[in-house]
Order: sequence, then structure tokens, then C-alpha cells
Amino acid sequence: MEFKREIEVSKILIGEKVEENVVEIRYDPLTLQTSRIVGKIPPISTQCNFDDEIENSKSYCPFCNERVWNLAVRDVEIMKGEIMKKNEALLFSNLTPYSKYSFVLRLCDAHYLALNDFKAEYFEDGLTLIQECLRKLPEGKFYISIGMNYLKPAGSSIMHPHMQVIVSETSTDYFARLDWSALEYKEINGKDFWLALVEEEKKIGERYVGKTTKTEWLAAYAPKGFMHFIAIPEEKEFLNMDELQIRGICEGIVKVLKYYHSKGFNSFNMSIFCGDRIGEHFRTNLNIVARTPFDKYYWCDVFFPKIFHDESIVHTFPETCAKELRAMW
Ligand SMILES: [Zn+2]
Repeated sequence: MEFKREIEVSKILIGEKVEENVVEIRYDPLTLQTSRIVGKIPPISTQCNFDDEIENSKSYCPFCNERVWNLAVRDVEIMKGEIMKKNEALLFSNLTPYSKYSFVLRLCDAHYLALNDFKAEYFEDGLTLIQECLRKLPEGKFYISIGMNYLKPAGSSIMHPHMQVIVSETSTDYFARLDWSALEYKEINGKDFWLALVEEEKKIGERYVGKTTKTEWLAAYAPKGFMHFIAIPEEKEFLNMDELQIRGICEGIVKVLKYYHSKGFNSFNMSIFCGDRIGEHFRTNLNIVARTPFDKYYWCDVFFPKIFHDESIVHTFPETCAKELRAMW
């Protein structure tokens, strides 16, 4: 496994003084996709106040308890018009479907949660409910992913904490890249990439964060966003995961969110690429990144490099993030 990087040094004159800045370009060890780590952190406000936005959005929120039962869009084929429920978690169809089966999982009763208020049980109930639903899928090959956008900087139009489930006959661009890269890796090396990655990262140590029940956590070598962490579960397929495996994943998510909170972040994206129905070479993996903090005039961190070059730019070294999170683990 190769952890390849290039270094570029930029010199700028600030007043009378020459400042050198190092830009590190890293190749993802699986996909070879590049990311740039720019050691300089732009000024980001962490004194966020958006209480008015919380109150305003609450007054019309379609996922709050007083509206969700009337407004939730019902799935015809899999849930047969029902809304599935487990404690505070509710599962229904997406009003704007992205694929053949496209669901929304409302995570909890609360309309807004600070990142240190998310509970592992919310995610446990949510993921268990998604498992129950997806077990009813018809035969055939599907690419299954579970994603989450939290708050506007992460792309969420609705504040209320929710996840999205995308079940598609055709993979997304990046899912396809993971799929064929992992297939190639398995054919050459005889084992799945993610297990090999954990082994390798444990040996190296500086990006390895720690373990939760049946789940290993590490900082991504070539981050796709701010403070990118990857979870690698023991069990390969999402639908086969037992209670302990689901719990381990959720315990870790909450730890990462607490870390983001401690750094002044309030918004994040998450994606679980499920290994179900793909093949022996693929293992379910979870990815999570922090986004620019939500504030009245927040900055969008997805700019032209990401939109047109598909190149991520981050400001913190994964080794630093891993070290800090390890201290809180
Ligand atoms: Zn709400």
C-alpha cells in the first residue's frame, strides 16, 4: 500500500517579509484521487449564533413531530405506505428521490442539536430501522449508501437532524471508483483494501485513532473534507450487521462529533458506502467530515476546485486530527 505525496512550496511577500507556505498533495491509497493539504487555516468564525434561524425553521419544519405524520412522503413499494418507527427515529420516502429507492430517516424529536448533543442511541435506532427497511428490497444488484448533511453549510435544506438512504441500480461516480479500485486491490493482494488499510495504519500509528465495539477508526490519509475520519467495521455487509456492530459504529460517530464540537464546528457530512450485494472485495465503510461552521454569513467551503476539479482542499493535517481525537477517545 502506497502513501504517496508531492510537496510544493509557495513564497509570498507580506509587507517586507517573505513567507513560505507548504502545500502537500496526497494521493488516496485506494483511488489515487488527490487532495491538497494547505497548512494555513483561513479565519473561520466559531462564535456562531443562529438562534433566530433555529426558531424560524422550527415553525415550518416538515420533520418536527407536529407535522411529520401528515407531511411525510410515503413509499409505495417497500414500506407500502407506512412510516417506519423506532423510538424517535422515523423512516419514510424522500420527496426528492435521487434513485429508485430514496428514503429519509428522521433521527430524533429535537429540531436542532449541537454536535455534542447527538446520542449514539439516535444513530443506533436510525441504522437499525434502515436495516429493517432494506431487508425488504427485491432481488438484484443495488448500490446502497446512507448519507447525512447537517446544517446548511453541509447542504441540508432542513435543519432537523436526518439521514438519507440512496438505493440505486447504478453507482454514483465515486462509489464506482471505490468499487473497481477495491476489486483491483483484492485481485492483486488477495485481501480487501479496508482490512489492509487498518493493518497498515495501526503499524504506522500516526493516523490511527482507536477502536469502538467491532469498529476501527482512522484519519483519512488524503482527506476529502475537513477532519476526515473513516470507520471500518468488522462485518462487511450493512444488512448483516448485528446489534453490537451497529452500536460500535454509532459510538464512534458520537465521539467524532464531540471532537468537531470541541474545535468549534457545528456542521458535518457523513456517508456510509454499504458493501451489500457488491462482492467479496468490498467492505462497508463510513466517512465523516466537518464543514464550515454555520453562521449568519457562513462561507461555503466547496468552491471551484471541488466542483470542477473534484479536488478537496483542507487546512489541517490528518495526523494532527488523529492525535487530538485520540486524546479524547
Ligand atoms: Zn424540526
